Amino acid sequence: MRNNRTIITISDISVEVIRKNIRSLRLAVYPPEARVRLSVPRNASEEDVRLMLATRLSWIKQKQAIIEQLPRQPELEYVSGESHYYQGNQYRLNVVVRQGKHELAVNNNSEMVLYVRPGTSKANRALVFDHWYRRQLQLVIPTLLEKWQPIIKRQVLDWRVKKMKTKWGSCNITDKRVWLSLELAKKPVGCLEYVLVHEMVHLHERCHNANFRGLMDKYLPNWRLMDDMLRCQSSV
Ligand SMILES: [Zn+2]
Repeated sequence: MRNNRTIITISDISVEVIRKNIRSLRLAVYPPEARVRLSVPRNASEEDVRLMLATRLSWIKQKQAIIEQLPRQPELEYVSGESHYYQGNQYRLNVVVRQGKHELAVNNNSEMVLYVRPGTSKANRALVFDHWYRRQLQLVIPTLLEKWQPIIKRQVLDWRVKKMKTKWGSCNITDKRVWLSLELAKKPVGCLEYVLVHEMVHLHERCHNANFRGLMDKYLPNWRLMDDMLRCQSSV
């Protein structure tokens, strides 16, 4: 059996080629590393693939150049002075080392205070953040669901906040279950709302087609703006 995933190099660019049950080729360049991925029908020959890549080479290079200019989120150290984000706002982190419970607090509109015990590792500091972000999302999501379920006329039976690597959200249509990325806590609430509405619209329409976009336009006329804000990082 043929391997589903191969790497093809063209003009010094490594392209991950994935064979799938699809009818047409799909080419994408993903941040943050400007990784190139080409999905092709299972029966596509290597010659077809190379030809496709050769004709789209300038497009790939253009996309890579754009991605390389995107601001990169630096590796977080969870130390005082560092910038952290919550609901689209930037906060300066102040780390207070003390005995007692690990805690994170937003003091005013510009400062986050992380209370940790002496010797707390970077990984454990990150966990305090994750826990806090998750709780903030869990406080907001029920209100958004209450608002949108009667409008969209679909019920979400289960929802979860998950650490997701490449997506902002996903929807299991059969189980009527929505997963939302933990990262959304860092974005403006409008982005969270957009992703939730997007996933709920999938309960009407599985594909990102004209019908889907029409429903989005009806429910959330400014959805494209939110989509642009999020798209430079992941997909929904
Ligand atoms: Zn979608």
